[in-house]
Amino acid sequence: MIKVVKFGGSSLASATQFAKVGNIIQADSERRYVVPSAPGKRNSKDTKVTDMLYACYALAEEEQDFEKELKKIGERYDAIINGLNLKLSLKNEFDKIRENFKNKAGKEYAASRGEYLNGIIMANYLGYEFVDAAEVIFFHEDGTFNSEKTDKVLSKRLAKIERAVVPGFYGAQDDGTVRTFSRGGSDITGSIVAKAVHATVYENWTDVSGCLIADPRIISNPEPIKVITYRELRELAYMGASVLHEDAIFPVRKAGIPINIRNTNAPEDEGTWIVETTCHQSEYTITGIAGKKGFVAVNIDKDMMNAEVGFGRKVLTAFEENGINFEHMPSGIDTMTVIVHQPEFEGKEQSVVSSIHRLAKPDSVELESNIALIAVVGRGMRATRGTSGRIFSALAHANVNVKMIDQGSSELNIIIGVSDADFEKAIKAIYDIFVTTQL
Ligand code: ASP
Repeated sequence: MIKVVKFGGSSLASATQFAKVGNIIQADSERRYVVPSAPGKRNSKDTKVTDMLYACYALAEEEQDFEKELKKIGERYDAIINGLNLKLSLKNEFDKIRENFKNKAGKEYAASRGEYLNGIIMANYLGYEFVDAAEVIFFHEDGTFNSEKTDKVLSKRLAKIERAVVPGFYGAQDDGTVRTFSRGGSDITGSIVAKAVHATVYENWTDVSGCLIADPRIISNPEPIKVITYRELRELAYMGASVLHEDAIFPVRKAGIPINIRNTNAPEDEGTWIVETTCHQSEYTITGIAGKKGFVAVNIDKDMMNAEVGFGRKVLTAFEENGINFEHMPSGIDTMTVIVHQPEFEGKEQSVVSSIHRLAKPDSVELESNIALIAVVGRGMRATRGTSGRIFSALAHANVNVKMIDQGSSELNIIIGVSDADFEKAIKAIYDIFVTTQL
């Protein structure tokens, strides 16, 4: 059995955190491949090393002196090395980095050094082999991930190594240019490594005990989710719930490898299991609730709309022409609503409205802004009667006016549109009815 373990920035922010990570790895000999992030924040006022590197490189790019900033980054690593009593010096590494900064090796190269250096320390601390991600994770020239080449090279390389540290977040193009994933991308590296070694599980260690049923900024102490499917997680993540980089799901999902989200500061907690499919009933009818503010409803009216073949296509063409993505499209007999992201739509609203008039010739077009969408997600909803009834009576009791309802054909989610001002109140009401009162 092989476990791939990825540790996030806050799990590796200091020597104390490193020691916790060391204990976790040593507690289970199956934890053979380790993917570290760069050191994160030690407290809320601290700066992540990745951000320090971006700022330092920005100075280098403008040909300003960056020595002071580079020194501060060095101090972050030295504090870890000294705190762990390691016999390791990063002096040569920093000389190389300084040189490469002067030669303008690129912003992505700069950012990647956070994980690179942390990987060297981690390998030294654990006595594992260090594998530079630039040698095993590949990118195309357009910056997209080259999965075929990576899979081949990485699995071959790791097959020969019993225990290794592969830094997260970066890789390289064929010509050696260092590239990074988007922010939070070490999650993706962990998933890629798990796939390459056919891991039994991809453990993603962070600073929370897994995914929560609702946003803790809205619900105090929400219950954790024990098991969630990839599809459910996608629905919640799309609506703003974040524990994992969105793209981290794909490599392991393809290989049927589960992800276990764990807490470095509470390793005894089971965390959340993210799986392809499960026969575990979720404890509550719903698995999670998430939502976002800031949508616009474009309401289109036309008498006899229902009899006009191609009306929907014409309306959607108006959005397509303007490069606008739509989120939902509930419709009535003579009305149709297209829900779009407010920030994306605002600059183009007049152009979209006139395109709709030109293409679809409606009787009227009206805009309603500041709409929030809430997704109530749960594989259990399919087998349970009355879920939507309970949602709507809870919302009615809370005095929340529902502006839109959309249930996906998979019966995995129900999307509700309310006004931005009712957003928190609506989430509380839904959480209460399903979780607090345990119905
Ligand atoms: N260190 C990178 C960041 O701050 C990548 C990661 O932590 O996953 O975004």
